[in-house]
Amino acid sequence: MLSWKKMKNWSGPINRKNILGLKIDVDTYLGMKQGVPRLLSILSRFDIQATFYLSMGPDASGRAILQLIKNPRFLKKMLRTNAGRLYGMKTALYGTLLPSPMIALSFPELVEQIISAGHEVEFHAWDHRRWQDELYKRSLEWIEDWFEKGIKAYRRLVKKEPSSFGAPSWLIDDRVLEIARKYPFRYLSCTRAKEPFIHEISGLMEIPSNLPCFEEIGVNRGVSKIIQIMNVRPACPC
Ligand SMILES: [Zn+2]
Repeated sequence: MLSWKKMKNWSGPINRKNILGLKIDVDTYLGMKQGVPRLLSILSRFDIQATFYLSMGPDASGRAILQLIKNPRFLKKMLRTNAGRLYGMKTALYGTLLPSPMIALSFPELVEQIISAGHEVEFHAWDHRRWQDELYKRSLEWIEDWFEKGIKAYRRLVKKEPSSFGAPSWLIDDRVLEIARKYPFRYLSCTRAKEPFIHEISGLMEIPSNLPCFEEIGVNRGVSKIIQIMNVRPACPC
């Protein structure tokens, strides 16, 4: 969401058409280890700031294989989005045949690099996979514990309180919003609503993800699709 650097130098009118908040969710160990450095170099090349929502704790992505067995629609989605190539085979086994490595906690220097490059780092998850698979059947205590572990890790890595929580897979319920009140979040980014709004239960502002993510539209068509939705022309015709 950080566009201040750009906005400060912006001479034209600021409106919804020329501000784009770039939200980068880091969900896997491999994504943190290999994806983040690449993204940092691309962002620096174009002088763009983004908000990195980091998963702090275990990468249990391999549990998705269990979903495959249970849900053929998930398999179709994996094949359609080429997720196997995107995430790698090892990632597909973490948390089942291979132990779960810690995601952001394994790379404190990388977290520092993200911050010193001027990007925001916010709280995405403790255990991303279990949240997205099991949130609705888990107890209130489990969710509290999930937040406690995640926020503790965040404080250790980022050395401040988080300003925001972006829920894994945009999954929340009333219990999550109650717990979110206990932390000093300034805003949430937990839904795919079309406009920002205030969450009734927590009283917190929601800045939703109201554009598609690359995972959904594919890397090749991603930029043109987003530009088309925003109905703007790229600044540079090259
Ligand atoms: Zn995520």
